[in-house]
Amino acid sequence: MKERIVVAKFGGTSVADAGQVRKISDIVRSDPARRFIVVSAPGKRFSDDIKVTDLLLDLYEKAKAGEPFAAELRQIKMRFREIINGLGISFPLDEEFEILEQSLRTEPMRDYTASRGEYLTAKIVAKYLGFTFVDPAWCVCFDQDGHLNGPMTSRTMCASLLPLNRAVIAGFYGSDMSGVIHTFERGGSDITGSLAACAVGADLYENWTDVSGLYAADPRIVENPETVSYMSYRELRTLSYMGASVLHSDAVLSASELEIPINIRNTDRPEDAGTMIVRHLPSGVIKNPVTGVSGRKGMSVIQIEKVMVSDGSGFSALMLDILKERALPFEYCLTGIDSITLVIRKDLLDDCKEDLFEEIRETLHPDFIGLRENQSLIAVTGEKATESSDANVRVLEKLTSKGIEISTINQGAGKLNLLIGVPEERYEDAIRAIYEFRQSL
Ligand code: ASP
Repeated sequence: MKERIVVAKFGGTSVADAGQVRKISDIVRSDPARRFIVVSAPGKRFSDDIKVTDLLLDLYEKAKAGEPFAAELRQIKMRFREIINGLGISFPLDEEFEILEQSLRTEPMRDYTASRGEYLTAKIVAKYLGFTFVDPAWCVCFDQDGHLNGPMTSRTMCASLLPLNRAVIAGFYGSDMSGVIHTFERGGSDITGSLAACAVGADLYENWTDVSGLYAADPRIVENPETVSYMSYRELRTLSYMGASVLHSDAVLSASELEIPINIRNTDRPEDAGTMIVRHLPSGVIKNPVTGVSGRKGMSVIQIEKVMVSDGSGFSALMLDILKERALPFEYCLTGIDSITLVIRKDLLDDCKEDLFEEIRETLHPDFIGLRENQSLIAVTGEKATESSDANVRVLEKLTSKGIEISTINQGAGKLNLLIGVPEERYEDAIRAIYEFRQSL
């Protein structure tokens, strides 16, 4: 039988200081299947603290502007010195910082500088665990335009990692064919973890962070929301797109393609099972029909009316072409018999509102264009809700019973998959009402 392989990624708070790295070591040692470890750079130790990646970016800006940067460099070195001393290991920190300083003096490079947090953390953690250090510059392949080369990365990572028994891989970056370092977006170590899990054909991708999984609602709005035990990839994508942030969305995409389950775990409470993200719920799992609710403020709703929009004359297609030409993304578009409703982020729309409306008038000759601003959009998901479930209707009833005006409703096909527009000033009330409804089921 194939040996179980787990890829475990530890986020910034899990490597913030020596005490946290010790916890990682206990977690890793408690399951021999945890063979491949991916780490972020040290994050915040307390709420006012600064993440090492932010310190590095600041350092780069100083060096690029030709300003003195010795104090910034010293501050970052101190963070690593404390970790090394706290772990009681020997590590050539002076040599590493000489190399970084040299690069800043000669040719400061943003991505290279930003990546040093993960690079040093992975080297230190590897030394502490007695694992092999893997520099993703060897195996996470970018094209020269800075985009990930997925197929090449998958082949190279598989060839680099599988022969190793145990390894620590730095998250967040890779390099192109000429060796130039490129980073992912912020939070990109999640992507490295997911790429590693796919490359080695892992049975599980663990994502260790500072919460015991994904909450059913935003804890800043709902007091002590429940943690969701199981969730589908699709639900996670919807909830994170709408604002619930725990995992980078690209990381979910690659793991879901190979159906590798993702387990969100808490480094400070390893005894908690966390949230399991899977394609299909295992049979026998009892789950609330409403998985979760999340949303975003700052939306504008445009209503364009014209008799018989849907008569096949291509009105909707022309409308979408106008948006495409302007590279203006929309959150969703609903076409009815005599109207099209578009929900667009207000900040994006504000940049081009007058021009856009003018173009719509000239090209499409609508009967009416209406605009509602200060709206929010709320997503409610529930894969377990059956086709015949009335959960969607009851969610809407709950909102109206609280006097919350609903400006738009988009009911996606299958299961519970609702996008609801409500005025911004009732956003928090709406989230609380839907969560309350969830808890009553
Ligand atoms: N250290 C990087 C950041 O702060 C990447 C990561 O933590 O995933 O965004």
